[in-house]
Amino acid sequence: MNHHHLPTWGGVVQVLQQYAPRTVCRVEKGVLPHPCAAGMKASIGMPEGQTADYRLVLLGGAGFHVKDFGSHYEAHIDEVHPDVNAIEHLRRDAPGVFIASGAALGAVIGRSVGTSKEATLAGAALGGLFAALLTSAREG
Ligand SMILES: [Zn+2]
Repeated sequence: MNHHHLPTWGGVVQVLQQYAPRTVCRVEKGVLPHPCAAGMKASIGMPEGQTADYRLVLLGGAGFHVKDFGSHYEAHIDEVHPDVNAIEHLRRDAPGVFIASGAALGAVIGRSVGTSKEATLAGAALGGLFAALLTSAREG
């Protein structure tokens, strides 16, 4: 039998599944076919210098996520594929994004309802805790 031990994207998934979610596996270009050839879909992700993002829904709703950095790929498994549950994906797989957007939103709210610098700072610090922010802003 002519058996080539060529790596596949499926093989990368199998390797990554042995590690914690979001463990990154670097794959050199030319070693594997294009992610789309393996059934992955072009997607978007946190901009980290990649030129493209590719995702695939895994069994159980997890997401296989490949970032194309031009010279190489970086692959990891997200706990939740954004197509399965966008909010849970952001909450579990992109806590930085979640906190950042929450803080930005908080700052906007702080600015719109607050009359002091403290209100804006409180808004930024509290992030997504709108209820607490609005209560404090009302009190302050
Ligand atoms: Zn991801």
